[in-house]
Amino acid sequence: MSVVLSAEGVSRHFSVGQGLFRARRQLNAVNGVDMALHDGEVLGIVGESGCGKSTLARLLLGLLAPSAGVIRLGGHDMSTLARRTIARQVQPIFQDPFSSLNPRQRIASIVALPLAVHGTLRHEERRHKALDMLERVGLSARFADCYPRELSGGQRQRVAIARALVMKPQMVICDEPTSALDVSVQSQILNLLMDLREEFGLTLVFISHNLAVVEHFATRVAVMYLGRIVEQAETEALFARPRHPYTRALLASVLTPQPGQGIPDTGLGLAYPDPLHPPPGCPFHPRCRERLAACSDRLPLLDRGERHSVACHLHER
Ligand code: SF4
Repeated sequence: MSVVLSAEGVSRHFSVGQGLFRARRQLNAVNGVDMALHDGEVLGIVGESGCGKSTLARLLLGLLAPSAGVIRLGGHDMSTLARRTIARQVQPIFQDPFSSLNPRQRIASIVALPLAVHGTLRHEERRHKALDMLERVGLSARFADCYPRELSGGQRQRVAIARALVMKPQMVICDEPTSALDVSVQSQILNLLMDLREEFGLTLVFISHNLAVVEHFATRVAVMYLGRIVEQAETEALFARPRHPYTRALLASVLTPQPGQGIPDTGLGLAYPDPLHPPPGCPFHPRCRERLAACSDRLPLLDRGERHSVACHLHER
């Protein structure tokens, strides 16, 4: 399988003010990320809130420029590509469909907007394609002239999916696409995404805090902690044999309590570190039950040589 999108040593830093008389600090939202996305795969990215998942999504979409490192789209350095070229190939689906749709436009115009921006199609042709795409996401033509406020949350997310796919992109980056929806419609949207993935041959990045969803849909999973990928493997291997202590704790934190044994204590009850003051050495060491003497001094690097890579001193060869 060919590599569609890759990140090499990608970091994104922000300068953050802390008050009138205090010096600004650097927030390393994404730190030295390496990854390669292959044609047709679904890469799940998991981690707690604030770990850098959404910043990484915006970097992969070309909406943010890396502070360091290179993102390549189809082998080309993304920083040298025009915004329109990137948008033809990579499209987003965001968490909140209401804020991502223009409330003053009708549904057909919203879906047809990418065609208007990129193409030379006439109005009637754009509308025809928009209606066709709406039908493919399960919305009949009667929704075409509605406004977003007239639709339910699930219907609005279907519109956002139609807009993302109307240009037939190669890749879609979904940032928590169902977490703003009622539980009852979440599985409908997830199943729709997977059907469309088959139909359009899409490559997907699927960002979620819901491990069960990621296990079900992703072909490969990357686990993030404080801006870094700490473990990456094919889904089955990662869920069956997690190697990083953080991954093990994350998986344990969603286990169902056993009768008589209570809720498993994973250690993740300790507060997530302040990203403005990350711990030295391994960033997970204050919460890690398996830490070694070296862990508070030395940063473990992701072992890139294996299909199952992990950044932990326990697994250094
Ligand atoms: Fe735990 Fe040390 Fe591994 Fe970090 S490097 S996860 S502190 S054992």
